[in-house]
Amino acid sequence: MKKTELMVIGAGPAGCSAAIYAVRAGVQTVIAGGAMPGGQLLQTSEIENYAGFIDPVGGFDLMERMHKQCKRLGVEILPDEVASIEGSKSPYTLTMQGGEQYQADAVVIAAGAKARWLGLKGEDKFKGHGLSACATCDGFFMRGKEVCIVGGGNTAFEDALFLAQFCTKVNLIHRRDGFRADQVTVQQAQSNPKINMVLNSVVEEIVGAERVEGVKVKNVKTGEITQIPCSGLFVAVGAVPQTDFLKNSLVALADNGLVLADERTHTTLPGIFAAGDCADKYYRQAIIAAGSGAKAGIEAAAFVNLHRK
Ligand code: NAP
Repeated sequence: MKKTELMVIGAGPAGCSAAIYAVRAGVQTVIAGGAMPGGQLLQTSEIENYAGFIDPVGGFDLMERMHKQCKRLGVEILPDEVASIEGSKSPYTLTMQGGEQYQADAVVIAAGAKARWLGLKGEDKFKGHGLSACATCDGFFMRGKEVCIVGGGNTAFEDALFLAQFCTKVNLIHRRDGFRADQVTVQQAQSNPKINMVLNSVVEEIVGAERVEGVKVKNVKTGEITQIPCSGLFVAVGAVPQTDFLKNSLVALADNGLVLADERTHTTLPGIFAAGDCADKYYRQAIIAAGSGAKAGIEAAAFVNLHRK
């Protein structure tokens, strides 16, 4: 079994910031980053609200910078994910998906979140055939076509604006007529002639033989069902924490899957800390993930340094 003083689970802004603070406090730090380290920002085209960047920065670029910064400081980033955590006190045993085992004195869980789907019949069949949860990744294939996007948050609105740059028409379908997205972004979308708001409406069915050819939409106020022809359906209805791997561990989770952690990032187990979207009920912003990761890194380093034999 390999040993490390700190294992950070996740290589998004929370995990990288935790690792940067811990390694600079003299703690041997390994990040389990998986095959595609970087989390949700890898799917974000442009970020304009991360302080320190005068011009918008690409999500991929920002993560690449963080990974390079971690490596320069001496953090090892493993291309593997943690499958389970065992133990009720430090040191903990972590089993990787590839089968390798690590003993870690402290752990920072910064596993992030992944897209939520609508749970429609046939959803799996259409994934990759016109149905997507990532406009940044798959929007390109919809050039010159009509598409639909579901959701009323920042992701849905930003994706709608992105898709409107090269799609013929973007139908934004939202289940009510109030939005979670910022007012500025909503106004931009409302004044974009290519974006059609389909409000108080839910998608009932995806229509198509092999690929998405349209959606059946129900107006929740009138009960009326209409069919919108489209080549792509983008789902932007929020995210769910990536904490399934903790279900058989002693780390306490809330009913919604978030890791339970206090304001100093301490979970219910000594030496295990949580940061970022896997523990964030309210904000789910890159800069807040980075800030909470820094807190977790400071706390984990203090724990390791106090218990170091
Ligand atoms: P979100 O803010 O949670 O919004 C999810 C949207 O999907 C809501 O409008 C919700 O409707 C709708 N929804 C949820 N479940 C649904 C279902 N089963 N069927 C139909 N609609 C459903 O998620 P998000 O837009 O992904 O944003 C996540 C976080 O990241 C937010 O804090 C957001 O501000 C942030 N973010 C920020 C930026 C930025 O600042 N540049 C960009 C992207 C995301 P209701 O409103 O009716 O609940």
